Amino acid sequence: APALARRLADVEVAASVVMTSKARALAAAGHRVISLAVGEPDFDTPPHAIEAAHAAALAGDTHYPPQDGTPALKAAVQRKFRRDNGLEYALDEIMVANGGKQIIINAFLATIDPGDEVVIPAPYWISYADQAKLAGARPVFVPCPQNNGFKLRPEDLEAAITPRTKWLVLNSPNNPSGAALSADELRGLGAVLARHPQVWVLSDDMYEHMVYGDFAFATLAQVCPDLRDRVLTVNGASKTYAMTGWRVGFCGGPKHLIKAMVNMQGQLTSGVCTVAQAAAAAALDGPQDLVRERAAIYRERRDLVVAELNKARGIVCHRPEGAFYVYPNIAGCLGKTSASGRRIETDLDFVLALLEEQHVAAVHGAAYGMSPYFRVSYATSTDDLREACRRIQAFCAALA
Ligand code: PLP
Repeated sequence: APALARRLADVEVAASVVMTSKARALAAAGHRVISLAVGEPDFDTPPHAIEAAHAAALAGDTHYPPQDGTPALKAAVQRKFRRDNGLEYALDEIMVANGGKQIIINAFLATIDPGDEVVIPAPYWISYADQAKLAGARPVFVPCPQNNGFKLRPEDLEAAITPRTKWLVLNSPNNPSGAALSADELRGLGAVLARHPQVWVLSDDMYEHMVYGDFAFATLAQVCPDLRDRVLTVNGASKTYAMTGWRVGFCGGPKHLIKAMVNMQGQLTSGVCTVAQAAAAAALDGPQDLVRERAAIYRERRDLVVAELNKARGIVCHRPEGAFYVYPNIAGCLGKTSASGRRIETDLDFVLALLEEQHVAAVHGAAYGMSPYFRVSYATSTDDLREACRRIQAFCAALA
């Protein structure tokens, strides 16, 4: 057959997608499977956002969108950055894309030349690495150990930067670890970045509103205003408003970068679905109490999951600041054999055996660049979480 492109050779199918389809197959065979593998809220889109989409469609807002986003949504994004982050972006410093995901690939394609490097703290959301590779860059991973709360240390960042470094990706709160960086921690990284003016910084704030207890969310462009013209602040409707299917992400950044990204997007997609943009604008401008109410629910679930997983033999679960993930360590389970005789040598062995034997789906740490761990998403009902933790405890208790 005619050949496919080389650029896809080392781009992977996301492990969460693989685990989710394995879980579906078991469920179709009649098992009661609990999935802790999903990366999206289990809540619904707010009704006022859905109504705004409907009204926009009926009003004839059904033509090609402006490539950079509708004026209404861009204005709502401008207000959001001011309200939540104390950031002032002019309208030509803002753009809208098909999810935060397309913001990131726009940014990479608009800036990366072959041989450039993208520094990615590990564990990381897998798409950063694959998108960097698609754009022709070499991902450079920097481990963020559990004993530092899975957070990037300034000295490790310093050591990872070279003259070829084009981007640093910061993701706080983090997928998959849940770790979130305080304003002071961001300042420490900012001091390093100030010494390396060739480096852009992508601040992926997608989980901004999922921080718990007295932790205060902060973002780099806000705490290090001197870096503002090198920072792309990325956010979106998916996680905050349970709008993953609408595909709306947005960002603020320096004008010449945004202009190049809009150019790229014009070629890729011509912009974002108009009615989805109307829905996102309504979500951003509408009442925000839902966001706080849901965060309170996530907080309870985090505390439940951390407490229950720490009761499982061989598991040590750090309690992170945010997102809806925890990243338990399973070093104490390795080298053992499961109830059905499966050898557990890696975190992949662990999640596969857990799925087969206890019908709980989760994603192995190797997929996020740090082992031996697995990622638990607690964006699922509290009852299911209790039952899933019980099954994980039973699975671990049977390891011998
Ligand atoms: N960034 C992080 C850290 C994520 O976990 C996700 C989704 O899983 C995204 C960005 C992309 O979200 P979306 O493209 O739905 O806006």
